[in-house]
Amino acid sequence: MAKYIMALDAGTTSNRAILFDEKAGIVSVSQAEFPQYFPEPGLVEHDAEEIWASMRRVAVQAMEKVHAGYEDIAAIGITNQRETAIVWEKETGKPVGNAIVWQDRRTADFCDQLIANNETAFFQDRTGLIIDPYFSATKIRWILDHYEGARERAEKGELLFGTVETWLIWKLTGGRVHVTDYSNASRTMLFNIHTLKWDKDILEKLDIPGAMLPEARESSCIYGATDPELFGGPIKIAGAAGDQQSALFGQTCFEPGDAKNTYGTGCFLLMNTGEEPVKSSNGLVTTIAWGLDGKVEYALEGSVFVAGSAIQWLRDELKIIDNAPQSEAIAMSVFDSAGCYVVPAFTGLAAPHWDPYARGAVLGLTRGVNRAHLVRATLESLAFQSYDVLKAMEQDLGKPLGTIRTDGGASSNNFLMQFQADLVNEKIDRPACVETTAMGAAFLAGLASGFYKDKEELKKFRVSGAVFTPSMEDADREHRINMWHKAVDCVKGWAREGE
Ligand code: ADP
Repeated sequence: MAKYIMALDAGTTSNRAILFDEKAGIVSVSQAEFPQYFPEPGLVEHDAEEIWASMRRVAVQAMEKVHAGYEDIAAIGITNQRETAIVWEKETGKPVGNAIVWQDRRTADFCDQLIANNETAFFQDRTGLIIDPYFSATKIRWILDHYEGARERAEKGELLFGTVETWLIWKLTGGRVHVTDYSNASRTMLFNIHTLKWDKDILEKLDIPGAMLPEARESSCIYGATDPELFGGPIKIAGAAGDQQSALFGQTCFEPGDAKNTYGTGCFLLMNTGEEPVKSSNGLVTTIAWGLDGKVEYALEGSVFVAGSAIQWLRDELKIIDNAPQSEAIAMSVFDSAGCYVVPAFTGLAAPHWDPYARGAVLGLTRGVNRAHLVRATLESLAFQSYDVLKAMEQDLGKPLGTIRTDGGASSNNFLMQFQADLVNEKIDRPACVETTAMGAAFLAGLASGFYKDKEELKKFRVSGAVFTPSMEDADREHRINMWHKAVDCVKGWAREGE
């Protein structure tokens, strides 16, 4: 009898393999960072071969730690950084160039052209998305435009496209299976989220050959089995979902109205809207949450590009903290941010502003602002940005969201969680196990392989770890939010040519 589900969590900066037991308890974890490439300001790349090699290594290590063989693993579930575009040769498995990462802004001008051509409503109606370099479509087009003969080869079926889960499944199955799941497909800006098909009109508009696209399937189903050489024998691959949808599933947000906010590299607020796709009028995107049991469920999503990575900036560039957890005590050593506001728009602003030309700024500096104020203001910026997407979501829904479930690396910061509860004036509920992204993938794979019984059983696995209750005065809250918005207005359009 298999004892575990193995979740492979392919993050933006690191890969993780986690083994879960039959009660969704973590029995083994192995993690490794992989290199980030920044060829020019605004450009972010990964080497897909490095992602694969590192993921393969951590998977083997996680199994070795508990002396697990392939027969001990009921199934593998994959969750991944979304939108990142990889194009590789079908014959050799060699990528044609580096993967273009979701944060990369190189296609901003092309997106501007699409917007100027009044394509916004068309793309939103079909894909649920807002035209932005963030999504895969324009990145794929860029690759086809910039590598000699790439488009012709793609048309002939010689080149394949995939986001990271597609690439990993392809590698895991020894090049036999070329699939994506609906949640990942819905982030490409090529997928019609209503018909569940690659949209022919969009492919034509963007000059992307359909032949290079993977087959889109449910998020919880058996895609294939691993090449026996990898783990000593075949293991079923039975689940896949984009990291944010996976976290939504891992937080057991199964009912319409259930919402979670993840504080990782970026912040991502998602709310389950059930079988109805809800169209946003406030800068949010409509996305597929998952395909499961013959049904597709949707989510409304607000993304913030820079959150935890602003804390890394404090650590690695400014060098004013030694590690991320230390930011909590430093922030709490001062009463407030002394009027200082940090807008970490390092890669532009996402929801609800959608300005690829915004850049970061520190505002309100006075002679008395010190290191602790700056650290505090940076942490606060995670909560302010989340506040903006939360309010946009409430406007779309016409009602308050209620308690918000949180997770992600930075959610372990108690100062941040309390400040977030204060700003949104709602309770924040952090689970005991914040590995919800990996848990979601494990749940999806566990359901498809029969390792877990049903959603009711999964709900029991989510245990609340801490609840933060708002305690800020209304006037105080209002003042801070006004000042934050003033700061955001200052950074908009900063990097636009000629301005
Ligand atoms: P991802 O999955 O996006 O790679 P994680 O969920 O692993 O990210 O979270 C890592 C991020 O959280 C890093 O950017 C790090 O700076 C931030 N982080 C981790 N711990 C803390 C903390 N205690 N306070 C603030 N930020 C933190």
